[in-house]
Amino acid sequence: MKRSILLIEDNEQNRYLVTYLLTQSGYSVVSATSGPLGIQMVGTVNPDLILLDIQLPEMDGYAVARALRQDSHLRRIPIVAVTSYAMVGDREKAIAAGCDGYIEKPIDPQTFVSEIERFLPAIRKEGTP
Ligand code: MN
Repeated sequence: MKRSILLIEDNEQNRYLVTYLLTQSGYSVVSATSGPLGIQMVGTVNPDLILLDIQLPEMDGYAVARALRQDSHLRRIPIVAVTSYAMVGDREKAIAAGCDGYIEKPIDPQTFVSEIERFLPAIRKEGTP
């Protein structure tokens, strides 16, 4: 079975690029364009990892992470924040909100997949012996 990733991102170009990179690497990607939609989808998608944009309309990524961490069924899914806020303290803010990791935009297509794989639970990837 393919491993699935839920991408919560409002920017269409970013959704396209991230979906492309992950799909090329064998992941199944489902995306949500807002925090409330993403929260609504987590239960049905049951992703192996959540990629969470921080700059979102109506509900920012920190609030989304906090909401997900309050749900005991969803608490164990790794969340990686993806943000263009290159400000001191943002990493700490993301971790404090419940994120497991943090990747800065613009993402590097060469290293993006391996960066997020560090946060996936360590099980064998499909196709490896
Ligand atoms: Mn955004």
